[in-house]
Amino acid sequence: MREAVLAIGGVDSSGGAGVLRDSATVGALGGVARVAVTAVTAQNDHAVSAVHVMPADVVVDQIEMAGSVGAVKIGMLATAAIVGAVATALPRAPCVLDPVLMSSSGHMLLDDLGLSALLERLLPKVDLLTPNVPELTALARRFGRADEDHHVCAALLLQKGCRAVLVKGGHAEGKASEDHLYLPDRPRVTFTAPRIDATLRGTGCRLASAIALHLANGDSLDHAVGAAKNHVHKELTLARDMASASMVGAPHG
Ligand code: PLP
Repeated sequence: MREAVLAIGGVDSSGGAGVLRDSATVGALGGVARVAVTAVTAQNDHAVSAVHVMPADVVVDQIEMAGSVGAVKIGMLATAAIVGAVATALPRAPCVLDPVLMSSSGHMLLDDLGLSALLERLLPKVDLLTPNVPELTALARRFGRADEDHHVCAALLLQKGCRAVLVKGGHAEGKASEDHLYLPDRPRVTFTAPRIDATLRGTGCRLASAIALHLANGDSLDHAVGAAKNHVHKELTLARDMASASMVGAPHG
């Protein structure tokens, strides 16, 4: 039997992102998810109105109760106390860390000390880090690197201990969405999909949890990233088609 994916992260009350999205993604791809909730947020697509951070020992309890898992996906961590608890209790399994810093609506989801703790304590335990470009540069800046060059930033994060970095280019301009996978011992590999004109919350959660599911199934990192990118592309296509169908049905005037 295939092992479960453990999703560690926040609850987004709107269901767009966070562990609810992770669990739905893993389920849609035929897997089973366990969750460890780090924080409960009250939010919609436009704003976060409240964040209630879980006690660190409750996060540890949830991780321990998940038992043996095939892969771990980590998202929102909120504070240094939660980062420390997760670093201590992390099960032995491939680990994908989506370094969630801010919601699309602009609310910080990891505080300043939390970011330092993430870099010091969690980064060396991570098999794959999946930053978007603003996250990549924010992380590199914390290591004293004001460089905007993605290759330089990714190389720095590899040097600081994570085993691979996937730089997501989803929000960049252009006809294609390109993600670049960096490993220490080979040239970068680029994963490309046609850019879809759609708005969808939680694309980062979908990608990272789909990668974790494929790693739990025993797939190689390259295959896991490619398959997860295809999955997100399909979901974006569906979101675009549903939006245009609802426009067709909308009253004029
Ligand atoms: N809220 C929670 C709990 C999340 O985990 C995340 C992302 O992982 C977000 C919000 C941000 O998602 P979005 O970029 O779709 O706003």
